[in-house]
Amino acid sequence: MQILGADFVVLCDADFRVLQQGGICFENGEIVAIHSYAKLCEQYPNATSHYYKSCAITPALANLHLHLEFSQNEGMLHFGEFGKWLDSVIANREELMNADLQSAMEQGVRECLQSGVGFVGAISSYGYDLEILSKSPLRVLYFNEVIGSNEEASDFLFQNFLARLQDSKSKQSERFFPAVAIHSPYSVHSKLLEKTLEVAKAEKLPLSVHFLESFAEKVWLESSSGYFKDFYRKFFGSDLHSFYSAQSFLEFFKDTKNAYFVHCLEADSDILKEISALQGKIISCPKSNRLLNSKLLNLQALKEYGIPLCLGTDGKSSNDSLSLLDEMRIALFAYCGESLESLARELLLGVTRNAFLNTQWNLGSLSVGNLADFAVFKMPKDSKDERFLAQNLILYCKKAEALYINGVEVLENLK
Ligand SMILES: [Zn+2]
Repeated sequence: MQILGADFVVLCDADFRVLQQGGICFENGEIVAIHSYAKLCEQYPNATSHYYKSCAITPALANLHLHLEFSQNEGMLHFGEFGKWLDSVIANREELMNADLQSAMEQGVRECLQSGVGFVGAISSYGYDLEILSKSPLRVLYFNEVIGSNEEASDFLFQNFLARLQDSKSKQSERFFPAVAIHSPYSVHSKLLEKTLEVAKAEKLPLSVHFLESFAEKVWLESSSGYFKDFYRKFFGSDLHSFYSAQSFLEFFKDTKNAYFVHCLEADSDILKEISALQGKIISCPKSNRLLNSKLLNLQALKEYGIPLCLGTDGKSSNDSLSLLDEMRIALFAYCGESLESLARELLLGVTRNAFLNTQWNLGSLSVGNLADFAVFKMPKDSKDERFLAQNLILYCKKAEALYINGVEVLENLK
């Protein structure tokens, strides 16, 4: 049995409650009591205890969207416009996957852990990241991705997906969870989509999908024109039509629950209403969105439709780091129309509580019975006022001080 204490224990519950000089007692990877640190030490005299002075303890953070396999990009890709970026990804794909990929992915995992992330939603295109993620200390929601708009290739691509899914199932554990990702409505043929969703629904696998990320995608779904018309002419040598409208694409998700819709920059109120009806979550990646689309998600609209906001870094193919703390800090500056502390709290809940609402995981909030996954952050020395806690944490904490996953500290080994 262990007790951790800190000046602030941030429960990340619906009311954003904070315990000053608080403590968490845990055993066998599960929280057994939360109270003041002094009280817990008195109650459990045989437990080992440690107090983090001038620190805040939060639930371990969740980065719900990244592409570890694209960790090698540093200045290779064309930022500033979605279409040019996609062209540059295709042109540089081989170089991005070259022999140095392993060490770039290892660095990516370190960046996650060092920013206090204990849980990732990793989109895997090829399965190159399977070993490294399954052996890392992270809890991993491993999204095997399907992509392909060529009808004739659908069977082959589906079999390839099934084989990767099977490989990932062999790694399944209390920390590793196989799942399914649909690349996007513009890149997945309806036959392939149908078959893949059949598997996801039958096996109740979590789902993730890039949706309405760019204006080019919106134009394509609405009128089969614009950038993607030229794109498909170039790659297929013929005129294609979009397989779906945004609405008809969402209909395929009807019997799914809790799908993660990624980006949604171009989602209008009808679409948000649909996502809300599907009990979907939206994952925003503000830095990626700025780099590829010069746009940010409309947070007010999400609130209006009661859709929980989650955050991700996306891959280094559209970001300079996989630090979730960087992502939150940039978002705190970028959404300058929002009230500062309430935005900071919303962002913090977006990487904790919201990520796990209505899911199978007892994670995201500190409460008895939940898993013992915590991040510890060294707060600025004069940060005593609870009213500014979330903004101070996001502004000043560039790295986690400690990180516990399943009750075990994992950063010590990285130092
Ligand atoms: Zn992505």
